[in-house]
Amino acid sequence: MQTSDPRSCVWNATAIAAPDTPPLPGDTEADVCVIGGGFTGLSAALHAAEAGVRTVLLEAAAPGFGASGRNNGQVIPAYVRHNPDDIVALYGPELGERMNAWVAGSADLVFELIRRHRIECDAVQNGWLQPAHTLGRMRLVLNKYEQWMRRGAPVELIEDRDEVAAMTGSPIYHGAWLHRAGGHIQPLSFARGLASAAMAAGAAVHARSPAVEIRRNGDRWQVLTPRGAVLADSVILATNAYTDRLWPGLRQSIVPVRSFHVSTVPLADDVARTILPGGQGLSDTRQALWAFRLDRCNRLVTTATPLFTVGARGVLRRSTATRLRIAFPQIGDVALECIWDGKVAMTVDRLPRYHELAPALYAGLGYSGRGIAIGTAMGKLMAERAIGRLNEELPVPVSPVQALPMHDLLVPLSRTMVLFYRWKDARG
Ligand SMILES: Cc1cc2nc3c(=O)[nH]c(=O)nc-3n(C[C@H](O)[C@H](O)[C@H](O)COP(=O)(O)OP(=O)(O)OC[C@H]3O[C@@H](n4cnc5c(N)ncnc54)[C@H](O)[C@@H]3O)c2cc1C
Repeated sequence: MQTSDPRSCVWNATAIAAPDTPPLPGDTEADVCVIGGGFTGLSAALHAAEAGVRTVLLEAAAPGFGASGRNNGQVIPAYVRHNPDDIVALYGPELGERMNAWVAGSADLVFELIRRHRIECDAVQNGWLQPAHTLGRMRLVLNKYEQWMRRGAPVELIEDRDEVAAMTGSPIYHGAWLHRAGGHIQPLSFARGLASAAMAAGAAVHARSPAVEIRRNGDRWQVLTPRGAVLADSVILATNAYTDRLWPGLRQSIVPVRSFHVSTVPLADDVARTILPGGQGLSDTRQALWAFRLDRCNRLVTTATPLFTVGARGVLRRSTATRLRIAFPQIGDVALECIWDGKVAMTVDRLPRYHELAPALYAGLGYSGRGIAIGTAMGKLMAERAIGRLNEELPVPVSPVQALPMHDLLVPLSRTMVLFYRWKDARG
């Protein structure tokens, strides 16, 4: 089985059942047509349907097929690189602080949806930890803590090495900041639960229904699939790293990077109790990220970054075993169960993009590896925009679509960046 086959992903084994989402059978009409069934599109469909408008969602494969069903499950209400002050410097105090508040509230939105719709997805909101992998990176940790704390976010600073070792179960970290609103979920279950909630609210969700063309039809949009078309007032494009040629330039505006993940077999209880005993998820300060969380069966689910994707399985088995021995020596030799990959939509500055591509045609993408909370919030935002409930004071800038020069070269180039990141990480 290929690592990109969704069946190779650990979440497949423990997810709730998928709702019945038959393909679009023929022509139909809607107020809002959503394209893409990940967190962004499903959240958009749910919020549009809850507002009482006719909503149709088209997904090329199945809900959660893309990154949403294959990620680490860490719900993170913070930017990848930027600090809140950077956002204010970029967008000015009003829009900048609106965006900061929007990002800060994004994890609460995820957990509130899970509670309200009773989605069984092993949700744990005990916080998200970002520990410093070198002493030098403590400056980054301090900055993030201090700037989010100034804005009232529920954050804590852990400066004591013994304390961070007790919280993570790892001896390698120098300190950390903790965002109490973060947490983790079973991502495929969350995607399927969102699909069921959207359908319960009245949305029609169609799997195996790729949108192949979007064309203007009077003052409405017509979205064509192989078996039928949707005539809609508004269209929301939520295809992220799986974006195809549906809209000119959109695919070239992000770099779809293959991100690999590995899960161990369930750890023995006495070992599992020592790892992240507070139930947090962890993503450290490396650029070639090390992220860890336990699932409900005590499997350790972690990132893996191979230099070459050909033959990645064997390389990743060896490199992950080495990495686990460094990060969690108490684990000893542990068997690895699943290796899989999914596509992450990277932007050059690692900030998400919100586009108004044409009248009543919206797109949100480019979360650069932080799309669980921010993608869910983006879906809500686009639904509110599409139904006319959000007419001013948007919490994000409206960006023009900018195709990246030499886009086709950027994907292979992004792999060689791993070497650069590892070098930078080692220097701290
Ligand atoms: C391995 C990995 C680990 C990650 N870990 C984390 C993490 O721990 N925390 C975090 O916050 N983020 C993480 N991310 C990122 C996060 O998963 C994504 O940002 C998020 O899932 C994006 O959701 P989405 O709905 O925008 O896109 P996706 O979930 O990728 O959904 C896009 C969907 O669009 C569909 N589609 C594409 N074209 C068409 C078309 N023409 N017609 C119909 N449908 C179409 C695709 O089939 C796909 O299902 C990770 C990503 C990966 C790959």
